[in-house]
This record gives sequence, structure tokens and C-alpha cells, in this order.
Amino acid sequence: MTSPTRVLVLNSGSSSVKYQLLDMRDRSRLAVGLVERIGEQTSRLKHTCVTGGDTREQNGPIADHDAALKAVAQELARDGLGLDSPELAAIGHRVVHGGMFFTEPTLIDEGVLTEIERLIPVAPLHNPANLTGIRTARGMRPDLPQVAVFDTAFHTTMPEPAARYAIDPKIADRHRIRRYGFHGTSHAYVSRETARLLGKDPSEVNVIVLHLGNGASASAVEGGRCVDTSMGLTPLEGLVMGTRSGDLDPAVIFHLERVGGMSTDEIDTLLNKRSGLFGLCGDNDMREIRRRVDEGDEEARLAFDIYIHRLKKYIGAYYAVLGRVDAVAFTAGVGENAAPVREAAVAGLEGLGLAVDAGLNGARGDDPRLISPEDARVKVAVVPTDEELEIATQTYALVEKNSR
Ligand code: ADP
Repeated sequence: MTSPTRVLVLNSGSSSVKYQLLDMRDRSRLAVGLVERIGEQTSRLKHTCVTGGDTREQNGPIADHDAALKAVAQELARDGLGLDSPELAAIGHRVVHGGMFFTEPTLIDEGVLTEIERLIPVAPLHNPANLTGIRTARGMRPDLPQVAVFDTAFHTTMPEPAARYAIDPKIADRHRIRRYGFHGTSHAYVSRETARLLGKDPSEVNVIVLHLGNGASASAVEGGRCVDTSMGLTPLEGLVMGTRSGDLDPAVIFHLERVGGMSTDEIDTLLNKRSGLFGLCGDNDMREIRRRVDEGDEEARLAFDIYIHRLKKYIGAYYAVLGRVDAVAFTAGVGENAAPVREAAVAGLEGLGLAVDAGLNGARGDDPRLISPEDARVKVAVVPTDEELEIATQTYALVEKNSR
């Protein structure tokens, strides 16, 4: 019998499950879907069978992750792609926080689950939901290899000077406070794809990756290894994001507490959910912000300029960290689609060898592409990210290795 080649990728959030079923022979998608608002009366499951070109929707209460995954399994079974299929090789789970412990994709057993659970204090919003998804999937197919792919893993190569905050190491170590970084699966995939676009091996190139979605982070990748990234203990540090402030003087928090009379939870909500582009101008969608900028809206203009200023500072910082830069790669919703952001982020950086060609930058496309002038010293690229494909690839590689 030929060995199974399909991988189901599960990304379990606190009230949602995103999933994709891929066939690793040709890395094609067989089915994709999303369950949202789990636990509410208005839950929704949207399932697309890619091979059949058919999309179905279910509306109505889905009580918990267990019920959600059962509903997903039923939908897959209707397309002949059920979880009991002998062609299913493994399930790959996205896990947000792997701490220092998990440096690579890991086959899940009870010990691994305990370790992910131990990391809940540093990832209270994400790891519990990830764990629930894993436990439910294991309950449904206890015999199947299940693999955890961590958002933090790619960043565990960061050297200590980049990973540590300048605070007493004893206090930092006691509370596991350090810069972990996130979006690692995307940074890994995009930095590799950028090397491929340049016709080089990842070990030969230095890349600055700008992952600009609703969450946003930058990383400095030297010869395929991450040496710095902009998110820290949590995904709040670094760039200006859709609703997160990114970097600020930590004393702002004491000030808001002492002078502003706000509680810790209120400040947490302010900085994570009501800041960034949204806090600055009331919109967090870059399309809407650009529309307002084009209409002469001053508030939106200032929000855009603050976003770009921070981005530019990180490009400069990571240029210095790397010493030599071969490419700057833009990815995720904003990075892949917003030409004005790319143009503004590198404007004035000609002295560093960075520029975009207006025609190439304005052209649309789904494939990785260069947007810098032909003779540019540093290439500027748009490289669409694909975290699900990367999770499936890493999951399948581990299962293949173990079966040899
Ligand atoms: P996340 O995965 O962090 O939720 P995405 O990578 O999907 O986010 O990015 C979503 C964001 O991408 C949207 O909030 C919007 O700001 C931006 N975006 C999507 N399409 C466009 C576009 N055509 N032009 C400008 N911005 C876009």
C-alpha cells in the first residue's frame, strides 16, 4: 500500500477553528473552511471542497470545540475526505507559544501537551484554545500522528542580546520574560521563498521580512536563521498594527494607572484592542485608511504616517543588525496588497540601496515577485505568505522522517 499523503491543518482560536486539508504530493488544497463564533447562538461553519468547487454554510449554535471539530469532520466526510480516510497522514496544529522549549515541529504526546499547558501564563489568550483543538482532534483520531507547529519556533535562534530585555536576569528568568517573537511560520516560509526568488539557497542570503497583516511584525533573517524580530514576550511589541500600539515607553502604563486611573485590564484592552491604526483614526483596515487619505482626511493621514515611520525605523534597525541585506520582503494582507505602504516604507532609503519601481510596485499578482529596479543593490520583493502550507509541509516532513 502507498503511504498516506494528506495533512489536515488546524488553527484553533478561542472562538474559531480554521482548517485546510492538503495533499502533499503536489501541495494542493482539497478542502478549506472556518468555524466561527463557537459557543454563541450565531455560530457559522463555512466549508469549501476545492476539488468539487462547492461551498456550503451551516448557521446555528455550535457549543464548543468538540462540536466544531465533529461538524468539520462531517463536512469533510460528505466530500469523501473524512478523518477516517486511510489517505490522511497526520494532523498539523498551529500552536502560538512554544516558549524556549519547542524549537521545531513536535510530535504530540502527553508530555508535549503538559509543556504547552505550562506556557499558558505567557500566552493566556492563545495556548488554551490551541490545546482544546489538539485534545479534541486526538480524541477523534488517537491513532494518527499529530504535530504541533509553533509560531515562536523560528525565532528561537535569536542570540541572547536580541532575545533579552535589559532587566534583572533573575527576575526575567523566574517569570520567563524574554523576547519570543511570533508569526514565525510566516517569517520562515517567506524568507525561504525570497531566497528562492533570488535564485539562491536560504543559507546565502540576508532578508528583512515585513509581515504586515492585522497583526504585524518584522524579522531579520541571516542565512536562513532568525537573528531578531519585532514582537516580544507577547505580540504587542514592535510595529504599529491594526489595533495594537506596538512599541511604547513602558512608563505610559504606570502613567495611565497612576494619573489616568485605569486598571491593568483596561490598559491591556486599550493597548491590544483599541490602539494602533484603529486607535489613531477609528479604522484598522488599510484599504479604508488609504481611501480616507486620498480624500484628504488628516486623521487618517497621520495614522498612516505613524505606521510608516515605525516601519521605516525597523527596516533601518534590521539593516544595522544584519550588516548586509540582500532583500526586503513584504508579506500578509497589507504587505501583499498595499502598494502605497511599500512605496512609503522605502522612500528616502536610496542611500541604503533600497528603492521600488513604481510600475512593478503598482502591478498586481499572486506569485512572489520583485518590485525593485533591475539594478537595485538590495532587492525589494512581494512574497505572499502561506502559513497553512508551511504547517502542512513541516508536519508531513516530520511524519515522513519518523516512518523511515
Ligand atoms: P491577519 O491574518 O493578521 O488577520 P491578514 O494578513 O489577512 O491579517 O491582513 C488583513 C489586513 O490586510 C486587513 O485588515 C487590511 O488592512 C489589509 N488588506 C487586505 N487587502 C488589502 C488591500 N487590497 N489593500 C490594502 N490593504 C489590504
